[in-house]
Amino acid sequence: MKFDLERIKAIPIATVASDLGFVLSPKGAGRCRFPGHPDQRPSFSLRPASNGFNCFGCQRSGSVIDLVMAMNSIDFAPACRWLNDNYLSGNGALSRSRAPRLKSTETLPVSVQPSSHRVDPEIYGWILDQSPLTESGRSYLQRRAFSAETIAHFQIGQIGDRATLWRSAIATFGMARLDGAGLVIEGRYGPLLCFPSQYLLFPFLQDGSVVYLQARRTDDQKQYRWFCPAKILPPPFNLDALGKPGPTITVCEGITDVLSAHELGMLPIGLLGATRELEPQIIDCLIGRNVAIFTDADPAGRGLAKRLRDRLAARGISVVTKNLPPEANDLNDYLRSRRGIT
Ligand SMILES: [Zn+2]
Repeated sequence: MKFDLERIKAIPIATVASDLGFVLSPKGAGRCRFPGHPDQRPSFSLRPASNGFNCFGCQRSGSVIDLVMAMNSIDFAPACRWLNDNYLSGNGALSRSRAPRLKSTETLPVSVQPSSHRVDPEIYGWILDQSPLTESGRSYLQRRAFSAETIAHFQIGQIGDRATLWRSAIATFGMARLDGAGLVIEGRYGPLLCFPSQYLLFPFLQDGSVVYLQARRTDDQKQYRWFCPAKILPPPFNLDALGKPGPTITVCEGITDVLSAHELGMLPIGLLGATRELEPQIIDCLIGRNVAIFTDADPAGRGLAKRLRDRLAARGISVVTKNLPPEANDLNDYLRSRRGIT
């Protein structure tokens, strides 16, 4: 696949930053949201003249492509693909961000190399098997109003001792394969499993195999809230819902909202991170059903809902955008208020 790099670089960075969840002042300044930079004071700003950005806190800077790479820890080519698919291609494009077409002599085609990292369901499944949910994880999930049925249905696990698991994983699979599966980070004292001790483990299940994992911390601290395999884009969460009978599929943002929607009796799938897109094969599975969209009540959520609505409508799929009561920020807030948990 080839990209029109100049067109991609001309996609307005303010729009992309907003869609990625940055909340910026009219001048384009605000808190950095890059993974690993818990920004206490606003140190991030856009550079309108160059359509770029700069963060004084974590020292990252660059183009709209670098912004997407940093936000989702992905390589150059997947970031270009994401920008192209979301803003420049056919039905999915946002008309407001459509850049003027350049003459063909001005284009810089880029060939996409397949990423050296790939999903490894055998390792992900093995990690889940080694990581049974413990009392701290279970009580966190109960505080979020999730029942034992929901906890079991999603096969939620919990990392035990990271160092023990790491040694055992190295002995079983070897470093090269663990690294290829995106599971290795460079720690202070050498390479390390990317999932910390005690973090909850959410498997992305598809026909019985674990195609991705996300780990989340079990307290309410904001720093390092979640970890995913490096350089591999998350697929939608709970795609198994598409195989279940029911007139309506609900699309929501993130894992917690999927669990909440399941708890409320819906058939939900969840979009995560910067890849918040539905692939054509998934859209095919939605034909003949109704789709309800629950997204966060922020600019990024509204942008996502609009993009999805347009893409699905183009395939003749009817879409209802659902709004939560104003006091609820997300589906989990709503679930907890219904269950009387504050
Ligand atoms: Zn930063």
